[in-house]
This record gives sequence, C-alpha cells and structure tokens, in this order.
Amino acid sequence: MSHANAQPAVQHASPAVTVLAASLLALVTLLPVLLVWRSAWLGRRKLRACPVCGGNAVREAGAEGISYTQARVWLQCGQCATWRRLETNRTDHHAHERRCKRDRRRIGKRLRQLETQRRAGEIYAFIARLRSEIVGAEDFLAGTCPPRPALRPRHARGDR
Ligand SMILES: [Zn+2]
Repeated sequence: MSHANAQPAVQHASPAVTVLAASLLALVTLLPVLLVWRSAWLGRRKLRACPVCGGNAVREAGAEGISYTQARVWLQCGQCATWRRLETNRTDHHAHERRCKRDRRRIGKRLRQLETQRRAGEIYAFIARLRSEIVGAEDFLAGTCPPRPALRPRHARGDR
C-alpha cells in the first residue's frame, strides 16, 4: 500500500468559481447592512428635508414618545411653513434636535457678528461726518437736534 493511495485526491475548484462564490458571500453579508443603512438614511432625510420645498430650516417642532425606541415628531418647514408629521426612532430625533440647536447657535453668532459690523459702520460713518461737515458746536446741534417749533407771531394767537 503506497502513501499516495491513502489520501483521496483533492480537486480544487476553478478560480472563476472561487471568485463567484466569494462575491456571492460578500454580497449576502453586505446586503443587509446596506439595506439597514439606506433605511436609516431615508429616515434621517425625512426629518431633515421638507418634502415640498426641500429646505432644511425648522420653524416649529414638537415630539412625543410612542415607545421606548420610537417617537412621533412634527415639524414646520422654516421656508414654506408646511407641517410634516412622521414617526422616527428616538436616536434620529435627538440627532435632529442637536443639529437644530447647533444651527440656531450658528445663526445667533452670525447675527451678533453682523450687528457688531453694522454698529462699527455707523460709528465710522458718524466720525467721517463729524470730521467733514461739523466745525463747531452750532453745526453739531443743527445736525443732531430736531428743529425747534416755529414761534407763531403774537397777533396770530388771538390776543387782540
Ligand atoms: Zn418647505
């Protein structure tokens, strides 16, 4: 009895079949992950974007819990004022609330910057006007005080 006869002959599959089997295995593994990821992305998109105008601004919002994982959310679009009501999971809802708070902080910060720039512009314009047009106190008072009411002549008051 020879040693070669003790083990059965092993036949390897062709490389094309191996690649096909590996691809099928990878597809079966990744497909549920892709489906769950797409479903979550669509759920977040419904929270984020208005179905009418596509805007992502929110004017008013409210929510109530349906279950331990689900929440009912109602949102009013900040651009077209369309209300939308949808059910989503609480994680997405909290993420959306954090995003809205972050947007409000960013808008407030930008508003304060613009207000500061506007005030500085007014001060610089006032300084430029002071330097160019106002020479003395009379010019300053004439430029800043409202005009005095005109005195009516004495004979017009009716005291004859
Ligand atoms: Zn809208």
